[in-house]
Amino acid sequence: MIIDSHIHISTYSDNAKNLKEAFILFLEEMKKNNLSAAIIIPDNVEGSDKIADLAKAIELIGDSKNLFLLGSPQIIQRGSSEIKKYQKLLEEGRVKGIKFFPGHDPYYPNDERCLPYYELCEKFDVPVLFHTGENSGDCECAKWNDPRYIVEVAKKYPKLKVIITHYFWPKMEYCYETTKEISNIYFEIAAMADAEVIEKSGGIEKVREVLRKTIIERPDKVMLGSDWPMCKIEEHVELVKSLKLARDVEGKIFRDNAIKIYKLSL
Ligand SMILES: [Zn+2]
Repeated sequence: MIIDSHIHISTYSDNAKNLKEAFILFLEEMKKNNLSAAIIIPDNVEGSDKIADLAKAIELIGDSKNLFLLGSPQIIQRGSSEIKKYQKLLEEGRVKGIKFFPGHDPYYPNDERCLPYYELCEKFDVPVLFHTGENSGDCECAKWNDPRYIVEVAKKYPKLKVIITHYFWPKMEYCYETTKEISNIYFEIAAMADAEVIEKSGGIEKVREVLRKTIIERPDKVMLGSDWPMCKIEEHVELVKSLKLARDVEGKIFRDNAIKIYKLSL
């Protein structure tokens, strides 16, 4: 039983002609990789026919019992004005947390406009997730999501579960050092098994070393994610397996931590 906490429904890798097809393709991937559940992350750009936004993702998953969603407010376009919308979505359990895209969009995690969403997530005891690191072919974007800003958020909201995804690649060691004292910081490993990410981050042994020590220090705070379809699910499963963790710890990374952290009812 494996849960992938970082899936997009998109046609970005020319895998499908439209979003409906991309979704069906994902259901096949789920079976192939023995996923028992997944968290689908809608894009913050709305109305694209290449990647599902929240409305499209809600439509696609229907009343599925093992597919979950995150919210992704439009900070640049709408500031904090979507608070009521997200309060309702959280109340109804339609979203299990909120994802922020600093670096895709030009704002910092400690931006004033984000704070009401952090308060909301703290109140509902659900996580916030931060996109970090470079985007493929664009290293400028990493300046917006430096973990030092994320640490500021985690310190300001000590009860908030703050999840970092992509480990601020290629500067994984820096991200580890910057966050290691902060107990409400969590990690989700999407893209860490991607060939470009591994190469630019210092090779597979470096990636394994950072991940291994993070898991040893925070066995309850690291979870599997892949960033499918841009990255492969099986390569991320393999990365975790290659760490040769104790069986119960491996189970936490593959499944148990996601259930607890996102409060998934399965
Ligand atoms: Zn992603």
